This record gives sequence, structure tokens and C-alpha cells, in this order.
Amino acid sequence: MHTDYISQINLEQARDQLWDILAPAITYLPVADQEIVELAFYQMIEAHGEQRRKSGEFYVIHPVEACLTLTQIHLDKDTLAATLMHDVPEDTEVSLRELAQTFNKEIIFLISGITKLSVIKYQGQDRYAENLRRMFVAMSKDIRVVFIKLADRLHNLQTLHHLPEHKAQRIAMESLEIYAPIAERLGMGRFKDQIENICFPYVYPEEYKKLISLSATEYQKRETQAEHMLDKTRALLDKEQVPYIQLHGRAKKYYSLFKKLQEKQDITVIYDLIALRVITQSVEECYSVLSQLHAYFDPVPGRIKDYINQPKDNGYQSIHTTVIDPETQITFEFQIRTEGMHEYAEYGVAAHWSHKQKAAFEEATFLNPERLKWIKELVDLGKEDLTEEEYLNYVKLDLFQDQIFVMTPKGDAISLPKGGTPIDFAYRIHQDIGRHALMAKVNGQPVKLSHELQSSDVVEIITDKKQKPSRDWLKFAKSVSTARSIRQDLRKIGVNV
Ligand code: MN
Repeated sequence: MHTDYISQINLEQARDQLWDILAPAITYLPVADQEIVELAFYQMIEAHGEQRRKSGEFYVIHPVEACLTLTQIHLDKDTLAATLMHDVPEDTEVSLRELAQTFNKEIIFLISGITKLSVIKYQGQDRYAENLRRMFVAMSKDIRVVFIKLADRLHNLQTLHHLPEHKAQRIAMESLEIYAPIAERLGMGRFKDQIENICFPYVYPEEYKKLISLSATEYQKRETQAEHMLDKTRALLDKEQVPYIQLHGRAKKYYSLFKKLQEKQDITVIYDLIALRVITQSVEECYSVLSQLHAYFDPVPGRIKDYINQPKDNGYQSIHTTVIDPETQITFEFQIRTEGMHEYAEYGVAAHWSHKQKAAFEEATFLNPERLKWIKELVDLGKEDLTEEEYLNYVKLDLFQDQIFVMTPKGDAISLPKGGTPIDFAYRIHQDIGRHALMAKVNGQPVKLSHELQSSDVVEIITDKKQKPSRDWLKFAKSVSTARSIRQDLRKIGVNV
């Protein structure tokens, strides 16, 4: 944390010290924009005044910390100003309306998007689901809302140890279940990693301890091997005069190791425990590096993944390849990507708001509206008449699911949640095709509507006007939006759901 040492001093001193930290962090903005951030800063200090957090620190440290996180991505003035004032309407006497006298509509919208509903208005459980719903609605209008929410959450997590254990655990669990997957979906790897790392020991204390002791020796061994591999690779690329910007090793984070170990039992066959990373200037250089690596080391068949040509659903791009050193027989995974792709892997869609890397992003195919469709689905889901529990379950389900891509007979790619079935596909094409779906053909073979689809399957739906939606369909509809459409259709024909 940037502001650890600010304690036991009066508010004026704290204010001056905080401004001394924040001011140099926003110099990437035009001067006029810096002034707006400064205005927000002083307004926020005045509003929160002497309020303190559970830790005993001045409250004002919290919004500044959240703001500092976002200055690292070089976000714009509106986002920063809104971050500074994000808790003002809820926790102080100053209302949004009053802030609107000084600040522009965008700033006010961003603040209103993350302001929690007042306790009085929503008592008990429903408040939480309602806050989430509101956040998704705001996100679908302006994605920057979620950057602020993530930065806010991150600082709350960093100060989690000040809370009573059961409360800390609940917040950590919620962060693992909702906020880390949101960060992942948006390609914001750095946020996802930080959230998971902090929450893992709170949510799974036993497993965490076990994992640390289980992996300690393996990490040590791999580190030594990684050094050796890096030296070799450096020498190889230099000798062949293949240009690159950076070459380094990166240890897998504990939580992601934990998840991987649940699929694979043996830690010694996790080849990206320490991944070796080559960062280049251009896409072309990525492929030159790849071919050099394959010329010298032995590539493991089936382990080359070209996410440059076929980006992951969240926009992540990189080439992954696993190779064996012929001399030592040691196996390592390499990840090769450009600087722009690397920036995207860390900050995802937020990188779009960064001035610094703008040029680098425009060269690539990063943001496809199809990729942000899930946000709208979560919003639409909020309009359904679901109980709090149902809503949260759907949200978690949806956020956790990986995506597959299947094809229409014409060759259009359709993204579905992993485990998706022809009924998901049918409703995705059109509600009318969904409700009259009779059966499906997958790669030319007839299958049931409950058949589990795989990526790159070609799917065709056979419809019959007489066919009616069935309650059973809900059992194998994988996507939240399919389930919603089916329920709508069932109600229309008088079936109670
Ligand atoms: Mn906050």
C-alpha cells in the first residue's frame, strides 16, 4: 500500500501527505484534468472529514488508495475523480445532487453506479443482490464503473485483517466468487490475481497451508531450472539475432495452482508453475521467437496454443508452447506476446482508457462487442422475478463458466457457455428457433437437444412449428439467457415456472 505510514497525525497533515502522493501519480493527465482530480480530492477530504475506518486510519486514505491503483493504468480524470468521491454520497452528509453542482454528468453517473443502496431502503439480504444488479446495469452503460468497484474492493481486501474473522471470510468468499471472475472476464489479470491471492487463505485456510508446504520444494527446484533455461534462451535468441524486448520467468500464483491441482494431481507435470515469458515489439517477432524456440528445443505435440490468432474469450492474446530441453530433458512452458498484448493481459479492457498504450491496442482486435455481451445478460437477468438466492446462483454460474465457440452451417461463430447444448444454440440464434426446436444435427449427425456441444462443432437446428417449449429444457439449458427465454416461453403457453 502506498499510504501505510499515514497514521497518528491530524487531518490536515494527512491531507497534505496524501496529496503529495497523489499529485505526482496523475501527471500523465493534461493540466486541466489534473485540476478536476484535485478538486475532487479536496471535496472528498472535506466530506469525510475526521471519519475513521475500522483500522483506526482516517477514512480518506481509502478512496485515495483506490484512486492510486487506477492511476497505474493511466485512467482518465472522470474515473479518478469518481473513485475519490465514491463513498461520499453513502457515508457523508454530502449528497450526489450537491456534487453535481461542481462535477460533470459522467463523474456523477460513475459515482451513482457504485454507491451502495442505503441500509434503510433495503433491509436484510436483498440489499446485496440489489447492489450487484445495480452495478451490472451501470457497468453495461459505462464499463468504467467496474474499474472503480474493483479498485475499491481491492483496497478493502488489503485491509481485511482489521475485520472480525467471520466478516473477513464472507467478504473474501464474495470476492472470489463474484469480483475475481468479473476481472477475469474483462481480461484484467492483474486485478484477478491480486484478489485471489488475498482471498485464498481466508476462504480455504487449510488448503492454503497444505499447498504452501506441498509446493515449496517444487517452486525452488523450478526456479533454478528456470534461470538455466532463461540463460540458454537468451544466448539462443542473441545468436540468431531474433529481437525481443524482455525475457523473464513468472511463478504461478497460489490460487491458480490450487485450481489446477484440482484437475491434475501431480505438481511435477504443471509446466507453467514457472512460465517463461518473451515480450516482443511486434506480432511478427512473436512468430520468429516461436520458430527459434522450436528449432532448438523439442516442442511437446498438442501443447502449442496460438491465442494471437484465436484470442481467448476475454481478449487475451499470446502464444503458449511447451518445450523440452534436449540436454536436460526439462520441460517448460513459454508464453510469447507483444508489449501491447502483455499490457492487455494485465489490465484487460481497462487498458483501453490508457493513453500510453493506445497505439499498441489499435493494431489488434481486442475489443469485440460479442465479448461484453455477458454483462447485458446479467443486466437482463436482474429484471427477472428471481429471489436473491436464485439471482446470485445464476450470476456465479454465469461468471464461472468458460466459453466454447460453435459454428452455424454458414460458418458464423457463436459463443456458448462450456457444456452448452443445442437448445442454448437455438435460442442464441433466435427465440423463435429455440421455442420450436425439435432436434439438432451436430457435424451432420442427428443428436438430442440435450447433447453437450464442443468447440468448433457445426450445429444445425431442425424446427417444427408444432413443437412447443418443454419444462425439461430447463434441465439442460446451460446459459442464463436461454433459461430466461425458456421460462418466458413456458409462461406464454400457460406453464407455471
Ligand atoms: Mn469504498
